[in-house]
Amino acid sequence: MRDENCIFCKISGGEIPSKTIYEDDEFRVILDISPATKGHALIIPKDHYANIYEMPEETVGHVMILAKKLATHMTKVLKCDGFNIMQNNGEAAGQTVFHFHMHLIPRYEQDGNGDKLCWNHLQLSEEELNEIYEKLKQ
Ligand code: AMP
Ligand code: ZN
Repeated sequence: MRDENCIFCKISGGEIPSKTIYEDDEFRVILDISPATKGHALIIPKDHYANIYEMPEETVGHVMILAKKLATHMTKVLKCDGFNIMQNNGEAAGQTVFHFHMHLIPRYEQDGNGDKLCWNHLQLSEEELNEIYEKLKQ
């Protein structure tokens, strides 16, 4: 499964060179070209899925297992102080490349990104919280 116009299909397929730090049959892991911190990497499945909704559950599971392995390895090698693992779906959520990828972001004390990666805290009323709770609980 491949999209001819997709840059991450070309990168994961090896058509466009990248700084690959890990590769297997299912994934290529590359250094981000515009990193948030030193070592910021992306897990890219070799098959094209625009986002997590399109991805088979089995692949989602493999991504998470690989993220844990790499975060452990990178933390040891880079001696970073913390680690963010994140993934954006849809423009509204900050996705800019529409081929699923998981961000692996080593964090360092005073790396300039704040103590977490960017969201504000809403002040919701009990009523508003309950409305969301009623919609979401399963
Ligand atoms: P997102 O905003 O979650 O879609 O993340 C896209 C990420 O891909 C950004 O962090 C970009 O810096 C990164 N990126 C875009 N093009 C390339 C490329 N050619 N090689 C490596 N990273 C890239
Ligand atoms: Zn693609």
